[in-house]
Amino acid sequence: MKVIMLGAPGAGKGTQAKQIADKYSIPHISTGDIFRANIKNGTELGKKAKTYMDQGLLVPDELVVELVADRIQQDDCKNGFVLDGFPRTIPQAEALDAALENINEKMDYAIDVDVPDENIINRMSGRRACLNCGATYHIVSIPTKVEGICDRCGSPVVLRDDDKPETVKRRLEVYHEQTQPLINYYKKQDILRTVNGVQPMEDVFKSIVEILGA
Ligand code: AMP
Repeated sequence: MKVIMLGAPGAGKGTQAKQIADKYSIPHISTGDIFRANIKNGTELGKKAKTYMDQGLLVPDELVVELVADRIQQDDCKNGFVLDGFPRTIPQAEALDAALENINEKMDYAIDVDVPDENIINRMSGRRACLNCGATYHIVSIPTKVEGICDRCGSPVVLRDDDKPETVKRRLEVYHEQTQPLINYYKKQDILRTVNGVQPMEDVFKSIVEILGA
């Protein structure tokens, strides 16, 4: 099963993508996580990506397209994968379709986790991330067991630079301009499914399972 998660930053698509990956035993491919790992490891790609990410801007298509095209052709993707944070522009979506066409495949579903901007802004200010292992939390809905400390690895959790209010506003603008057009793109391909993202996470997941099949 090959699934794309769509939705504004903070819509909860990462959390849902992880659960989909677990339930259907397919890899979770998050381009944001890949960039953050590269930043942490001080790679050339990481250095380039960071300048855009810190400003709430998208990393240029050419830095992300090849990375994903290679990733989805690895062995563990044979039974499918869930893409989280990619594609984010029409050229990225076209490049993905072309890469899949080369191996006689196509995407099965694009799931849009729909959340209004006001909810997004409230949510993101409460988000906390572990810069060591990448785990994410929320001070209200998914708190750490010990305040400020990652449950998984014990490192401090912080408000990521790209979750700061001024950056969130910019990311939402970028989302509406560059990513929202993908909704129509996948509607035309008849693989778009929309779920209401303003409900408890478990219910969002239930709606997704209804779409993908149990
Ligand atoms: P995310 O964790 O998916 O919200 O991504 C964090 C940041 O990484 C984004 O704000 C972008 O700067 C960058 N990024 C992640 N995925 C992409 C992509 N597919 N295209 C361009 N930039 C991306």
